[in-house]
Amino acid sequence: MERTYIMVKPDGVERGLVGEIIKRFEQKGYQLVALKLVSPTKQLLEEHYKDLKDKPFFPSLMTYMLSGPVVGMVWRGKDAVKTGRRILGETNPLASNPGTIRGDFCIDMGRNLCHGSDAVESAEREIALWFPSGVVEWDRKRVNSLIYE
Ligand code: UDP
Ligand code: MG
Repeated sequence: MERTYIMVKPDGVERGLVGEIIKRFEQKGYQLVALKLVSPTKQLLEEHYKDLKDKPFFPSLMTYMLSGPVVGMVWRGKDAVKTGRRILGETNPLASNPGTIRGDFCIDMGRNLCHGSDAVESAEREIALWFPSGVVEWDRKRVNSLIYE
């Protein structure tokens, strides 16, 4: 089963939207396998966003991401990476459809509430980075048979 790294950014934590974001992944049918509230170091964030280090918005992205604690999570299930990003919406909240997290709760790209891995390989890299001691391996047994055919 595919896994994705989803993170509530500092604005989402401070605005009290952690539960709302978790709810949307839960109700879709994805399985939570890791969760933590953490104040990340600059070094960790630079590693997380290393592909963007030459972008003009990188310094403001670092300031934003260092402005408070974040909630990191790993969600597991069929097509979790691509579908996870559809649940979040577009990078630009103004281009995000209503019904997505960014479409429903935010306006600016630099305050877009959440992160979701963009590919299976980046998901695995991000999961190893944020949860170096691993995730929780647990079986939902009966629930899986109610979600998957
Ligand atoms: N970002 C920004 N301005 C931009 C592009 C991105 O402030 O022009 C921020 C935004 O918060 C985004 C993050 O940088 O979520 C990472 O950019 P990426 O292109 O990876 O977007 P994402 O994968 O988060 O949709
Ligand atoms: Mg990205």
